Amino acid sequence: MAFDPAKLAADTEAFCQELRPHEELCYVEHRFNDQLVPLAKKHDLLGINVNPEYGGRGADNLAYFKALARIGREGTGVRTFFSGHLSIGAYPIQTWGSDQLKKKYLPAAARGEAILAFGLTEPDAGSNPRELTTTFEKQADRFLLNGVKYLISNGGIADAVIAFAYPAGLSEGDPRRRISAFVVDCKSEGFSAESFSPNAKMGMPTANTAMFSMENVGVPLENLLGNEGDGFRIAMGTLVSGRLSVAAGCLGVIEDCLAEVLEYAKSRKQHGKEIGRHQLIQDHIAHIELDRVASESLVFRAAEAKDRSEANRADAELARQVDMLAAQAKFFCANAAWDAVDRAVQVFGGRGWSTLYRPGRHLIDTRVCRIYEGTDEILKLKIAAALLGKGWDAFR
Ligand SMILES: Cc1cc2nc3c(=O)[nH]c(=O)nc-3n(C[C@H](O)[C@H](O)[C@H](O)COP(=O)(O)OP(=O)(O)OC[C@H]3O[C@@H](n4cnc5c(N)ncnc54)[C@H](O)[C@@H]3O)c2cc1C
Repeated sequence: MAFDPAKLAADTEAFCQELRPHEELCYVEHRFNDQLVPLAKKHDLLGINVNPEYGGRGADNLAYFKALARIGREGTGVRTFFSGHLSIGAYPIQTWGSDQLKKKYLPAAARGEAILAFGLTEPDAGSNPRELTTTFEKQADRFLLNGVKYLISNGGIADAVIAFAYPAGLSEGDPRRRISAFVVDCKSEGFSAESFSPNAKMGMPTANTAMFSMENVGVPLENLLGNEGDGFRIAMGTLVSGRLSVAAGCLGVIEDCLAEVLEYAKSRKQHGKEIGRHQLIQDHIAHIELDRVASESLVFRAAEAKDRSEANRADAELARQVDMLAAQAKFFCANAAWDAVDRAVQVFGGRGWSTLYRPGRHLIDTRVCRIYEGTDEILKLKIAAALLGKGWDAFR
């Protein structure tokens, strides 16, 4: 059946409306929202961008990121779940997995029977994934993985994770020492995950963030993504998809702040009139709207370019452009959202400071968008280096 964007938008809206009371209650009670997965399953949202051949809806990038923007209005924690499961979980399997691997994981992921996560970051390897220390050893019938992954979205609720590792026993400088990517079953012997307590996190208390460790975890040979040594390329390609999901989610946060602020500014009265009639409040409203329109155009532009690039995978220049557009959109939208949530909190005054209201929750949660999937600093260096030209990278 052909992909139906109107149906996806309607299902996303119904999901968001049904989820909202659960999310608000869980947020205030500072606990994981255990209704998110069942409701996403009910509204058929767990395979939005998965190819229909493998049980998904087959949404194009534009429709997918519009859905993520709508989901982002419900909170960065809710959207982060989808980023972990789809943008950085299902995406690399769909893009670099063999047909056998796709059949093994994608239909189950789309049905909500296999939640996915992406494990690149380690305690000593964040902005520079080449510093990771997880290793694999190739045996006759399997790979053996050892290492620890840190700060992984969905890591404590996942059924399978994408994990990155170097071949064991090779010294730095050895040309064979190249990162590979694997799909690892979380029920495997030697695999253990530990979720962060919601109280130990600055925000997103309703979402799962975890670390996991692998001690001699056996991974079937067919669970390798791409070829041995392709891992760094796969990680970077996946981050393009992940960065756009963050940008889209931030657009949703800004949209929600604008809706909240417009309503509040028309109803709250001080100094004898609605606060929306005070020009300094209108200044905040104008800035939030500018954050919104600029973010929307960057997300849509990048999404359309990604659709063109996926239809023409041999075009390296198009892929390079999408990489840059995703970095720009992620950096700009994360900072625009930070500006918008700060302004929304200000318009709400003392109520803005409370997590009982949406602006305060957005403020706490949105901060992470300037950190994960490439920090502000890393993205600025990437954008500047691309402009300066070959050989001008600030780091390698
Ligand atoms: C809630 C949450 C969810 C996450 N989910 C995932 C996930 O699902 N999967 C995953 O793999 N990871 C995930 N991460 C990890 C995230 O991607 C990393 O935290 C991020 O990439 C930064 O790495 P780091 O924390 O090690 O910081 P570091 O790399 O140690 O950076 C610390 C500071 O130094 C700066 N810095 C580093 N290098 C340079 C440089 N060369 N020049 C200038 N400044 C520099 C950084 O910008 C930053 O300000 C998540 C993180 C959080 C907080």
